[in-house]
Amino acid sequence: MARYGDGPKTANTVFEAAAMHQQVKVMCIECRHHAVFDPHGLWWLFERRGWTGQFAMARHRFWCRRCSRLQGTKVKQAMITLTSDRATIILERPSERTWKRAIDRYRG
Ligand SMILES: [Zn+2]
Repeated sequence: MARYGDGPKTANTVFEAAAMHQQVKVMCIECRHHAVFDPHGLWWLFERRGWTGQFAMARHRFWCRRCSRLQGTKVKQAMITLTSDRATIILERPSERTWKRAIDRYRG
């Protein structure tokens, strides 16, 4: 994992996106339907569920409502990118304390 503050600032995980204040854009490769998640709330959801925040893994947690309705099955063709666009989905965020502890853990 890249150390916070070192090297090129490219987030590869939901946590890193939050640490870098980048919004997380999830787009359906099939129909290009997309949503922009507030990264702190998204990280907290992943943390509570024990999900891996690596984008390569995290993308499998999302399914497209539009395609799924049309096809009658959960369509998981999500692609994750970073954006500075305004978040369209803001989930419950961690407390300030929880977030600070996570940052401390990350910096080591
Ligand atoms: Zn879709």
